[in-house]
Order: sequence, then C-alpha cells, then structure tokens
Amino acid sequence: MPDAVAVVPPSPSDHCVLVAGRRLLTPFPRHADLSALGDDVTWVPLGALDGVRVWAAGLPEKIDTLGRWRPWPAVAATLAEPLAALAGRALQIVTWRRSHRYCGACATELADVPGEHARRCPGCDLYVPMQLSPAVLTAIRRGEEILLVKHTYGPTELWALVAGFVEAGESLEEAVHREVAEEVGLTVSDLRYFGSQPWAMSGPGVVLTGFLATAAPDAEPVIDGKELAEARWWPLRELPDALPPAYSISRWLIDAAAKAV
Ligand SMILES: [Zn+2]
Repeated sequence: MPDAVAVVPPSPSDHCVLVAGRRLLTPFPRHADLSALGDDVTWVPLGALDGVRVWAAGLPEKIDTLGRWRPWPAVAATLAEPLAALAGRALQIVTWRRSHRYCGACATELADVPGEHARRCPGCDLYVPMQLSPAVLTAIRRGEEILLVKHTYGPTELWALVAGFVEAGESLEEAVHREVAEEVGLTVSDLRYFGSQPWAMSGPGVVLTGFLATAAPDAEPVIDGKELAEARWWPLRELPDALPPAYSISRWLIDAAAKAV
C-alpha cells in the first residue's frame, strides 16, 4: 500500500530514517531519541518493521550531535535487508518531496495528497504523483565470457554492465537493444528478464531492471568514448576484482552469468 503523509504522529518507539542531503542517520533512531528536532519536521510513513512503524523525514542539514550520517551506498553495504531497502526508500521519497514542491504548470506550492506519495496543486488541481524512472542493465555473454564496461562518470574504477534509462514510448526490451547498440555497438539475442531493484543512488524513483543476453561468437564492442571509457570481454571464471557491490543488481546479474558457466 502507498503510504500517507502523517495523519497520526509517530509513537516514541517508532523507527525513524532521517535524511539530510544524500546522507542518512545511522543506526536508525527511535522517535523518542529525536525530541531535539521539535515539531517542524514532516514525518512520512515508510511502512513497518516487525510490527513497529517506520517514518522518514528530511532535514535541511545534518545535525552531527544526533549520530553518524552516511551515504546510502555505505548504508546499503552494511545493513541487512529489509533495513537497506528502507534506507533507499527513505532517501528516494525525501529527495522527491524536496524537489517537487511547486506546481510545474502554475508555480503554486503543492499540497500533500493524504494516503499517497503524491501532491496536488491547490491552484489548478494538477496531480503530481511520485513518478518512477525505469532503467535497464544488461549482462551480455559471449560463450563463457561477459562484457564489462568502465564508465566515464560515477564510480569509474568499477567494471560494470551496459546500462541506461528507458525513454518515453519504449519497452524495457527496446531500451536494452538501443542502449547496447549505442554504448557498445553490439546486437544481442536471447534476451531474458532477470529481476529488478529500486536504486536510491541515481535520483528519486529509479527502478533498475536486469536482463541477460547473448552476443555472437565474433562480436566485439565499439565504444563511443563519451559514456564509456572501456569495454572488454572477461572470462566468467576470471572476473576482475573491481566489480559492482554485493547489494546491487549489477552484481547479482554478473554472479548469475558466472554461475551458469
Ligand atoms: Zn498548478
């Protein structure tokens, strides 16, 4: 169920996920630990953890006396599920709320819609839901090898997968074929859906979808040099050490491809 903006306030024992900029306060405090924040904080329900409600809130800046503020990748790498997922969800929702405050049509300040992660314009009635941004990742195999790439932006030291956002009017499968053609100049076949993961790193509402695909035995990547710095085939039994982190669908795809050898 989508969550409402707070109708009933948090209880003292409820869990709270605080976000300041791109950082989260860890370990997650109980609401009773946050009396110093006062009443100016807008609490957004995130769900429940073992029957205890969980809330998210954004602060204008981190308050160091509350505890340790860490970026989401560090939180996701060290917290077990479902805490890591809650952290990502909190970051996405708080980021969306901060960046969707005014009506895009008439510039009136938007109002929260009770019961939803959505806002509505009191001036022109425009409905503004928290929209999702699907992206595709593709693990391309060539026999017992996998195509890994290095990007020119983001974590450039990692050997990652070909990836990109789905464009308007495009299916996930069409996005895979377009991204693979654009980024590495390859044609792939035998496309299979693998799974998906909400991803808090690349802005609010990003959902990564993973695919496995096959390239022809003589296929060689050609990179554009803009988005990608390097692309090469790696033997699935001798993968590089600098792979995407264990909590990422990129890594799950690479591991799944390696397991199939
Ligand atoms: Zn409006």
